[in-house]
Amino acid sequence: MRKIEHIGIAVKNLESSNLLFEKLLGKKHFKTEEVDGEKVATSFFQIGETKVELLQAVDESSPIAKYLEKRAEGVHHIAFDVEDIHAEVQRLKTEGFEILNETPKLGADNKLVVFLHPRSTNGVLIELCQEVS
Ligand code: ZN
Repeated sequence: MRKIEHIGIAVKNLESSNLLFEKLLGKKHFKTEEVDGEKVATSFFQIGETKVELLQAVDESSPIAKYLEKRAEGVHHIAFDVEDIHAEVQRLKTEGFEILNETPKLGADNKLVVFLHPRSTNGVLIELCQEVS
């Protein structure tokens, strides 16, 4: 893994959270995007090499809606940038980590993404992401 690509934060209201994070970070988000597969609306802030991704559910079937039912708003996942997502999935499987989707899916920000189950990673939802070229 090469760096922390972004930190995902679950929010109830993307608009008001965008304003909050604009104040916090002193800059505007550089994009918003809906990810149909995950039923989320996202926005991204660039902080040096890393990003902050805000995630709001767009309907009740969204993993973010389910997360917010059980827990409060807050840090939802940490995403690591990887060079070869398929090789990394194989390596982590061999190491005994629980992969949520072995076949990478298209996520936000033009990335192929794979998630690891938090029960195999000390309670932290981990996302692997590889830029789609
Ligand atoms: Zn993410």
